[in-house]
Amino acid sequence: MSTTFDREDVSGLFDDPEPIRVVILGSTGSVGAQALEVVRSHRQRFRVVGLAARSDAESLAQQAKEFEVDLVGIVEGELEPPPGAKVITGERSAAEIVEEATAEVVLNAVLGAAGLEATLATLKTGKTLALANKESLVAAGEYVMAKAGPGQIRPVDSEHSAMWQALEGTSPDRVSKVYLTASGGPFRGRSRNELERVTVEEAVAHPVWNMGRKISVDSATLMNKGFEVIEAHFLFGFTYDEIEVVIHPEGLIHAMIEMADTSVLAAVYYPDMRLPIQLALGWPERFRTADMNRISFSEGTSLSFHEPDVDTFRCLSLAYDAARRGDTYPAVLNAANEVAVAHFLEEKIGFLDIERVVEEVLDSHSPGAADLENVIEQDQWARDRAAEVTGKIER
Ligand code: MG
Repeated sequence: MSTTFDREDVSGLFDDPEPIRVVILGSTGSVGAQALEVVRSHRQRFRVVGLAARSDAESLAQQAKEFEVDLVGIVEGELEPPPGAKVITGERSAAEIVEEATAEVVLNAVLGAAGLEATLATLKTGKTLALANKESLVAAGEYVMAKAGPGQIRPVDSEHSAMWQALEGTSPDRVSKVYLTASGGPFRGRSRNELERVTVEEAVAHPVWNMGRKISVDSATLMNKGFEVIEAHFLFGFTYDEIEVVIHPEGLIHAMIEMADTSVLAAVYYPDMRLPIQLALGWPERFRTADMNRISFSEGTSLSFHEPDVDTFRCLSLAYDAARRGDTYPAVLNAANEVAVAHFLEEKIGFLDIERVVEEVLDSHSPGAADLENVIEQDQWARDRAAEVTGKIER
């Protein structure tokens, strides 16, 4: 007889709950596609009512048809309305879908600072925000958090999901330290000399996570970890001195919180984004997914940790600096990085040029308070300045 309580085996004893209605923004990207996989595995739990994407009309149309959604949004281009669905186009399409949809949860998996508008629209409607778009918090964390009700934002980023899980039953003010783990990316252990010559294909080949190209490059430079430090600060109120990045190549522990009494709590799971996505959509329920890998501790799993090499991977220090300076510095950090990474992906600049561009833009920035108007204005300033700096070093 099984000693484990398995909800699936006794599901007949429970009234089947109504499925949770979800909107997925950025549905054709990596996180969006994995969210749809979660829904496919748990059709009785979730129903997708709205989908939005930037430009991949073909995939979006297929998804809309498969999930029989009510609303579909596309920013660039046109879309033949799928049967029974309404199509919304243009720059505000994601935000409009959020406003119109009858949904409990909105997953924001839009890429970059472009996701800020949908974040704010979701908070305004009172819907729960499952936030994969960390740039919303990097660029405008103070403003976003001021607009959010208690518990209205649920993290999707695996590290923040881990903190959130570890914090269940306690509160951030009982935490004395947070360890934000990083796999170290594909270039862990490389020298600056070696990094000068790495290619785009090497940079996007992440050893642990299968992700989109932009965030893969951010992971290779460790900028992603810097963004996550800022994200943790705003989501949970930890100070920057309380947040420490630690390299953990196995990628099994996603974050640890050290309590005031020195006890350390961690969330440990096989790196699979479907877990944090599913948790953010269905919290506090935990569902069994048949093909989810589990860690076999008895087979000799080892966990190792060491300090990040911030002299080689300078983006992490740039991010900490910008974070501590506050005001519009984090928004500028993010915008300059978006431009630099886009140029790197187009093979116009080298890998180490990313940090050079970001640093030069930060150095020439005149900061202001991080209200929405300033954030939007300085985001644009940083993009223009980054394009200028990038133009000078393009090869
Ligand atoms: Mg992460």
